[in-house]
Amino acid sequence: MIKGIFIDMWQNCPKDKVYILDGGLASELEQDGFSLLHDPLWSARMLHENPDAIVRVHDRYLTNGAEIIITASYQASIPGFQKHLGVSCEESKILLKSSVELARKAIQQHSDKTKDSKEIFIAGSVGSYGAALADGSEYTGDYCNEITHEDLIKWHHPRIECLIDAGVDLLAFETIPSVKEGEALMKLLKDFPNAKAWLSFSCQSMHQTSHKENIATSALTCLKMAPPGQLLAIGVNCCPPEFSKSLLKDISTISDGFPLIVYPNSGEKWDNREGWSGDKVKPNSYYIESWMKSGAKIIGGCCRTTPNDIFDIYKYFNPEK
Ligand SMILES: [Zn+2]
Repeated sequence: MIKGIFIDMWQNCPKDKVYILDGGLASELEQDGFSLLHDPLWSARMLHENPDAIVRVHDRYLTNGAEIIITASYQASIPGFQKHLGVSCEESKILLKSSVELARKAIQQHSDKTKDSKEIFIAGSVGSYGAALADGSEYTGDYCNEITHEDLIKWHHPRIECLIDAGVDLLAFETIPSVKEGEALMKLLKDFPNAKAWLSFSCQSMHQTSHKENIATSALTCLKMAPPGQLLAIGVNCCPPEFSKSLLKDISTISDGFPLIVYPNSGEKWDNREGWSGDKVKPNSYYIESWMKSGAKIIGGCCRTTPNDIFDIYKYFNPEK
């Protein structure tokens, strides 16, 4: 079932409901033979060049139990499309909006195929400003030393507007390396009073954001700034899974039962020149119990996690399948 615009995920669900999120998009596209590693638009290039490939990856996650799918707009921006694709501002907006349409198409095809009327939500990916720099900045947050709240708001505003215009269910403010960008996004959310969002920090250690700020303090600052009723969850993503337990536990000390979100990567290491390398560690499904103890209500995977990883999470909640 495709949801209407701007629903409240928590309104009509059981108290102990945990939503299953999808996993890595770009790594699946690479698995399918597309080369995205050194592309400044990353998976967003596929919106222009092979939209059907995106639908196929969404479908794989839906087939493996995802209840929320994230659009292919993580590294998408109007200036980015203009610069790297040579398209106009208007065409860039259409491309951004198409990310939502592709997710909707995948959901429709999936429900036609399976006759399953399960509620599926579309989260519009709003990657950090650093992600669009395509230099690994989302894992350091270095740019946050210089950039102002106003600059961040000005940069994010048009892409968010496109996702909302396209009817996305909620916004995924994700891989946010610093409290400063989190604050800017909370301010910006007020400009779209009907929109809902989650806010998820990128982290490279057990107790800090990627920009080395205390995770609990950062989350608390943003929770206090969040416009009432608009923030659906707060948490971490694209961190190594082994850090996720303590990060979530830290956030739970200040969140007072507020829903948490967690979707670590596969545990492999990112290098801006070489890409992902190293070994996968324990899968995300291994940590579910500890995450739930901290109040996790949305659980999935980020870079390099696969439909199989999501199916393992699905099986945890549906052991009979
Ligand atoms: Zn990631």
